[in-house]
Amino acid sequence: MDDGKACAKCGRAPCIELRYSRTLLCPKHFSEMFEQRFRRTVREFSMIRPHDRIAVALSGGKDSAVLLHLLVGLKKRLPMEISAILVDEGIAGYRPHTIKTAKAVCRELGVKLHIVSFEKEFGGKLDTILGRRGGANSSWGACTYCGVFRRTLLNRAALKIGADALAVGHNLDDAAQTVLMNIMRNEPSRLARFGISGGVVESEGLVARIKPLVRSPEKEVALYAELHGIWIHYMQCPYANEALRQEVRRMLNSLEEKYPGTKFRIFGSFLSIKPALLGIAKKNGAKIPSCPSCGDASSGGKCSACRLLDGIKSGKKKLEK
Ligand code: SF4
Repeated sequence: MDDGKACAKCGRAPCIELRYSRTLLCPKHFSEMFEQRFRRTVREFSMIRPHDRIAVALSGGKDSAVLLHLLVGLKKRLPMEISAILVDEGIAGYRPHTIKTAKAVCRELGVKLHIVSFEKEFGGKLDTILGRRGGANSSWGACTYCGVFRRTLLNRAALKIGADALAVGHNLDDAAQTVLMNIMRNEPSRLARFGISGGVVESEGLVARIKPLVRSPEKEVALYAELHGIWIHYMQCPYANEALRQEVRRMLNSLEEKYPGTKFRIFGSFLSIKPALLGIAKKNGAKIPSCPSCGDASSGGKCSACRLLDGIKSGKKKLEK
């Protein structure tokens, strides 16, 4: 907040400075702008139809908690059914706290919460699967295992409750990071299929994922949560150390500091080139490969994630190539 300046809308102070648009807003007008942008994003990508059943992937963190609040608010204008799904991966010292927060958020908003767990579904907690309870020596492995299981479980739970869409709390920072990481890893087909509202390829058994916060910078999501007293958990997962993403996050934050609006521009560029990426692939007759199991991007046949899952099911812990 910049205490010495006045809001562009009402002239009141203190103000929040949005450097990317050179705008100063008081908390009230910041909140209005934030909510309007959320509603505009939902409309822009046709994310929700009237009377849709929306399942929100709730983690207890700021993004999903803010998303749930905004969707509940939107219900007054756009009728929909909302429920929440939380995945308990079995991470000691972390997940039990976030479950408490998620329960409190749902109680406050009157939203039904469905909790699914790795232990029940896959026969083991993440800590056990990794063989190092609560440790984080090699978080690359942790997030690889966790990511695929979470995705699978969220989809299964969403299917089970008959959801039309699964709303996830990905914000602008997540989107800009994902775009850059796909470029750095030379994964154009994965980049082409990075979805904002449902998958590029319709797939039976796969609930469409929607990302209504994709145009909201992470800092603003956190500020909105603070201004509105939204229950969130600030604890970080002990495994959260995916090396490349952390590097890209730091780099993007530093670029944003020097050149405000960088994250918006990266995401905007992605939206501009996405049709071209898909078009070139189709013109060349090259079907963008998709995993026969989960429908996600793949280099052919089952994706790495599903092979990982198969490996665990058969008692092996290494990704088979
Ligand atoms: Fe799972 Fe990694 Fe996220 Fe932790 S940081 S919850 S291990 S994906």
